Amino acid sequence: MIRDVSLTYDKTAVIENLSMALKPQELGCILGPSGCGKSTLLRAIAGFQALNSGEIWLDNRLLASTSQAMPPETRGVGMVFQDIALFPHLTVAENIEFGLTDWTDVSRRERVAELLQLIGLPGLEARYPHELSGGQQQRVALARAMAPKPNLLLLDEPFSGLDTELRGRLASEIRTILKSDGICSLMVTHDQREAFDFADRIAVIHDGHICQFDTPYNLYHEPSSPFVAHFVGPGEMVDAVIAGPRSVDSPLGILTNDADLEFPTGTPVKLFLRPDDLIHDDASDYHATLVGKHFRGAHHLYEVRLDNGVVLGCFAPSHHNHSIGEAIGVTLDVEHLVVFPTH
Ligand code: ADP
Repeated sequence: MIRDVSLTYDKTAVIENLSMALKPQELGCILGPSGCGKSTLLRAIAGFQALNSGEIWLDNRLLASTSQAMPPETRGVGMVFQDIALFPHLTVAENIEFGLTDWTDVSRRERVAELLQLIGLPGLEARYPHELSGGQQQRVALARAMAPKPNLLLLDEPFSGLDTELRGRLASEIRTILKSDGICSLMVTHDQREAFDFADRIAVIHDGHICQFDTPYNLYHEPSSPFVAHFVGPGEMVDAVIAGPRSVDSPLGILTNDADLEFPTGTPVKLFLRPDDLIHDDASDYHATLVGKHFRGAHHLYEVRLDNGVVLGCFAPSHHNHSIGEAIGVTLDVEHLVVFPTH
């Protein structure tokens, strides 16, 4: 648990009064743009950065406050870094058992075998790091950090050195591995897809503060601020006016929400729409002009211009192959409207 933590470099605040807590065995993520202080926060949890205010607790033990700091090696915190940093002269098995010096030979061998199974690399224990692919190396680095059964595992942009396709797959695989071993973990990344693949809950940070700490689903569909809305996925703001307790008057007509909106009737608002909220429908009476088209395999991502000039993203099955300039039917498919004040 992090309580009211502030971190500064040369009197410049990087993190300000930040609080968050993970549940047992939860996989958390800190997501934010580059330079927002994610790695600094991880370093503070691991014990390599002094606190300017607040406290950090782990399983009822005070790890750090402004007046005391437990040494990194006694915190029970494991760490996986961006640069995989396996020991090149040690085999896979020797890398994994590196931190198990206090263990008996039998229990050490058992833990290595268990981890090799968990990371899907049984039989490769005698290989050296250079004989493994990047993804395999990162899984070995994970196993090495997991081996001593830390109370908390920290992962600092662990996939950033790997190619895009592998990153998404590895984030889900590592999620499965950590869930099987029940290790509470906190990853930091600037990549929203990686965060979605990995975490139970994600804290979006901006300017040293947590904007929203929530499930991937809620961050995407119920963002609490325009920053979170834009940071976790594509979408556009359109001008609208509150038309009733649950409805807004928008360029796409009157839209109804699944719950009361927190604005009085007549209030001008910004309505946030994602490409998956707007779907192409030949049967719709509402038409928009197709101005852009991106083939995405199973579907097209269309850009359509509404009568008032607003351009929105819109998904269409890929066999609906319309031409640029055509007027096509569109309809909204959204239960929960995302509405922000105009200022
Ligand atoms: P992130 O991990 O989100 O990319 P960092 O925690 O690495 O961000 O850095 C946050 C801010 O602190 C950045 O503006 C960075 O330039 C600054 N910073 C990081 N390390 C140091 C340092 N050792 N000394 C001074 N400033 C630093």
